[in-house]
Amino acid sequence: MSNIRQPLYGEAAVQVRDQLATSTAEDIRQHADQQTPDAGREHTEHQGDDLGLSLAEVLAALPAVADHAMKTALPERYTPELAAEFAQTMAGILREQQQERPVTAAQRGPEWMAKWGCPGFCVERHGTSGAMECHSTAPVETTLKAAEVDCSGYSENGESLPWMTAQVIVNNDKAQAYGRETKVWLGYGVHLAELPPAEARRALDALRGFTVRLAAVVDFAEQVAADDFAGDPEIAAADREAEARRVRAITEGTR
Ligand SMILES: [Zn+2]
Repeated sequence: MSNIRQPLYGEAAVQVRDQLATSTAEDIRQHADQQTPDAGREHTEHQGDDLGLSLAEVLAALPAVADHAMKTALPERYTPELAAEFAQTMAGILREQQQERPVTAAQRGPEWMAKWGCPGFCVERHGTSGAMECHSTAPVETTLKAAEVDCSGYSENGESLPWMTAQVIVNNDKAQAYGRETKVWLGYGVHLAELPPAEARRALDALRGFTVRLAAVVDFAEQVAADDFAGDPEIAAADREAEARRVRAITEGTR
């Protein structure tokens, strides 16, 4: 992490973000026009969002708007570099939020909903390959990937999978005959739990209790780690040589 991004965490970041939020759509649109005169109006499926701007337009305008926002909110801390760093961080967050927001059935319209029997929240791309048969919300997930925290190597099977995910699944195919069933899919790495809401609630309570104990473990680990140190590579090399000699002596002796 760069040392200039560090000071913008916490209260300072909140101030700049609040200032950024008060920037009007017109401000951003103006900056977007200055920054990307040739970008055209290539709106994504998310158009109609708060500002009526595409993600690309907002991202293009962000450096100038963040610069202005920081000058206003934190004049004593302002530097162009710090403002640029902040804009970059905001852009990362925006990109992540937007990319994780697929189109809902409600956005696709009543015809789509009637055709597939979708509840408004359904984000399945019915009729395309890979789409699920049932209805689902967009998953929420950790940005941390499973493979980053798993030292067993097993998670490499699904290397890009998030550490944890959760989404609502509704099965209402031919509901008159088979009924309607709502489940929570709770994913952890390559594993998936399909839970009725009551059991999902139990899992949530267990997780809540666990986070408190996990916090205690992490706190303690940080204290204990204060005494950690790296070994001496020369002594380590000598140790490996001695070990190799010992193994040779045993294998030659038993011949
Ligand atoms: Zn659906």
